Amino acid sequence: MVKVLICGDIIGPTSWKCLCERLATLQESHGPFDVLFLVGKLFQDENDYLECVKVIQLTLPTYFYDRTGIPLDILYNSMHQIVPEIIEPTKYLPKNLFLLKNSTTAPNINIGISNIHGLVVGFINNSTKMNDNTKIMDEIKEITSKPMYKGCDIVLSSEWPYEIHQFIPITELDFLKENHVSISRGSTLVSDCVEMLRPRYHFAGHCDIYYQRSPYSNNIDDMISPVTRFISLASVSDSKEKSKKYLHALALEPISNLSNDDIKQKPDNTTENPYVKVTGSSVQPVAKRFKFDDSHVNTGAMFYGSNGLTHNAPSDTSKILFIGNVPRSATENVLLKALPGAKSIRKVDGKSYIFVEFNDHQAARAVYLESTTVGIIVEGRTLSVGWAKDKESNMNNNLQLQPTDSDSKTLFIGNLCSQVSLDDIRKLFHAYTNLNIIRPEGRDYSFLEFNSHTDATEVVSSTQPYILGGNQLIIAWAKGKPADRVVSSTHQQDCWFCLASPSIKTHLICSVGEYVYIAMPKGSVTDLHVLIAPIECVPNRLHLTAIAKDELIRYEKAINSMLNTRRLYPVVFERAIRTKCKDHMQQHIVPISYEDVKAGSFQAFLKTISNYKLSFHEISSAEQDIDTVVLTMPGGPYQEFFYISIPVLDDGKKDVVYRRFVYLHEEKSRFQMSLGNEICANIIGQPERGNWKNCVLDDESEAKLTEAFINKFGPYDPMRVEA
Ligand SMILES: [Zn+2]
Repeated sequence: MVKVLICGDIIGPTSWKCLCERLATLQESHGPFDVLFLVGKLFQDENDYLECVKVIQLTLPTYFYDRTGIPLDILYNSMHQIVPEIIEPTKYLPKNLFLLKNSTTAPNINIGISNIHGLVVGFINNSTKMNDNTKIMDEIKEITSKPMYKGCDIVLSSEWPYEIHQFIPITELDFLKENHVSISRGSTLVSDCVEMLRPRYHFAGHCDIYYQRSPYSNNIDDMISPVTRFISLASVSDSKEKSKKYLHALALEPISNLSNDDIKQKPDNTTENPYVKVTGSSVQPVAKRFKFDDSHVNTGAMFYGSNGLTHNAPSDTSKILFIGNVPRSATENVLLKALPGAKSIRKVDGKSYIFVEFNDHQAARAVYLESTTVGIIVEGRTLSVGWAKDKESNMNNNLQLQPTDSDSKTLFIGNLCSQVSLDDIRKLFHAYTNLNIIRPEGRDYSFLEFNSHTDATEVVSSTQPYILGGNQLIIAWAKGKPADRVVSSTHQQDCWFCLASPSIKTHLICSVGEYVYIAMPKGSVTDLHVLIAPIECVPNRLHLTAIAKDELIRYEKAINSMLNTRRLYPVVFERAIRTKCKDHMQQHIVPISYEDVKAGSFQAFLKTISNYKLSFHEISSAEQDIDTVVLTMPGGPYQEFFYISIPVLDDGKKDVVYRRFVYLHEEKSRFQMSLGNEICANIIGQPERGNWKNCVLDDESEAKLTEAFINKFGPYDPMRVEA
C-alpha cells in the first residue's frame, strides 16, 4: 500500500507556508505518507519563486510538473545533479522537491508517464505554451492500446478535461453551476490523454474548487479497465470550507498488484464515459482564427447563469426553445431527429441559431434537460439551449409616453416573443414606410426608427393595442440618440472594431469566438486591459443577440478565472454613448491589484465622477441584469448609458466585492468620453493614464502586450482549440 497526498495550486509564500505546516501536522496524525503530488502551479514567476523558497520545508518526496517561475539554471542543476558540493544550496530546488519525468522514449516535458513508488502516474501540463505533442501522444497510444495495459493509478492535469460534465447527475451540475464553474472551457488535450491512459484517479487544479465527480466507466470493447474518479482540488488556502479542500489523501495498492476482478469493480453510481469525440478541431493558433468556417469551431458545451439565454421556462406551458451553436450544415431532418418531440423549426437566415416549437411543454422540457445533463450534439457541436420567451415581461409603468423632443422618431417595443422575426414586426407596421427595425435576435424587445415624428407619434398614441404572437406589445418613446442605421456594406470599412474591417488591427486581437472577440485597446490603462467586442457591428449591449450575449458572458467568466488565480480584480465598463463616429460596442475589462482595491477604488470612482458632476444609479441586486435596468429605469427606456462594475473592499472585511453603477444619458447632457479610463487610472494612482493618448505604444510593443495576454489567457480561453 502506498500512502499518497495530492495538492492543488499554490499561490504565493503564504500558501506555501500554509501547506508545509499542514503537511507536518498530517504526517503526525495520519502519516507517514510516502509521496506528495502537486497538481497545479507552484510559482507565479521567478520573483515569486525566490520569495517562496524561503518558506518551503517539505518533509516527504514531492513531485511536480509545472515548471513556471523556476529559474532555468536551478531546474538544470537539480535535474542533472551538477556537482552538488561546489554549488551553493540556493542553486538547487528546495529539499524533497522533484520534477516528474516522462519515462517513455518520446522527449516531452509537458506530457508523460512516470513510475513513482510503484505507482504509474501520468501528467499533462498545458498551462504553458504547448509544444508539438504528436510523438508523445502516439507513444501513449501505443502503450495504452496493448492488451496487457490495464490502466494507470493516477493522472495529474493542470486543466480540467473537456466534456467531463457529460452524464453527471443533476446535483453535481447544480453544484458546478452554484460555484460558477464554466464547464465549457475544459481542455481537449487533457480529455484525449485521459481517455487513453484510463486512470483510477484523475486530479486537476486550476478551478479553485474541490469537486469529486461520480466515477465513470472506461469500458471499451473487452479491455480490462478501472473506473476513473475525477477530483478537482482547490488552491491552497486557510479556508475551512469543503469546496476549498486542497489536499486529498489516498492509500493505493499499485494497479500492477491488483487482480483483473479488482480492477474491473464498478461502484453503483458509475456513469458512462464522458468523453464524446468532437470532430473538426484545428491546430491554428487562437488569435489567427479569422475564418468562421464551421470546421474550425469547437466551442464546447453550454453556458451557466447567463442572462442571454433563458434557463427557466417562462411558464409551464412554454414549448419553444431557442437553440444556438447549430452547425450551419445541419439539415432540418438531422435537427428534428436530435430533438425528440419537435414540431417545427424556424431557421434564421445566415445565423447559427434556431427556434424550435415542440408538440408540448413536456417534450420541450425533456430536450432542455437533456442539453443540461448529457448535452445534445449535432455534427460534432454541442447545442446551447435556452427557453424562448413567450410570456409577460417585467416592463412596467416606468416607460416614457411623452417624446423627449419634437423630432424623436424612435420607439421602443417590448414584450415581444423572442421567436418573433423581423418580418413579423415589419408586417405589423407595414403602414409605415422607411421603417428601420433594430431587432436583436432572441431578445424580447426591438427599437423602431420611424421615418417621421408624426408616424412614431401615431403608433405610440394608438388606442388599439398592437398584438404580435399573442402578446400585447409595450410601446414607448426610446430615450437617447437612436442606434446607427442598419449596417451598410461600406460601413465595415470605417469601423475599427468590425472584425471584417480592413482597418482592424490584427496584432491587438487576443481571441475570436463565434459572435464576440477579445482585443487589447489602443492605449491600455494596465497591461492586461482588454475589451470584448461583438464581431458584427452593434452599438451597445442592448443590441447584442441573446446568443452573442451568452458568449460575451462566457468570455467574461473565463477572463475572471484567469485574473482570479493572479489575485487581480476586474473593473468592467461599457460606454454606450453615441459619438460622431461609428459606434461599435466595447466592454472594457481593466484588471487591478488587491492593493489598488484596498487603497480606495470606490473613493477614486466617486472623486472622478464628481469632477464631471455626473449622477449614477447603483444597481443593488447582483441578480439584476444591466440591460433590464437600462430599459426599465423610470424615464426610459434609455438607449445611451455608461455602465461600470468596480471591485471594492467589503465594509469592515478584507473581502473584495463588486459594486455596479449606471449613468443614464439624456440627449442634451454632456458626457466625458474617456470617463472609464480615467476612473481606472485614478484607481491605480496614475491619473495621466486616463488619457489613452498618453499610453499609446508602437505596434511592436502592442503585439508583445497582446502576446503576453494570450499566453496568460490561453489555458482559460473557451474558444481555444487544442492541438
Ligand atoms: Zn463596427
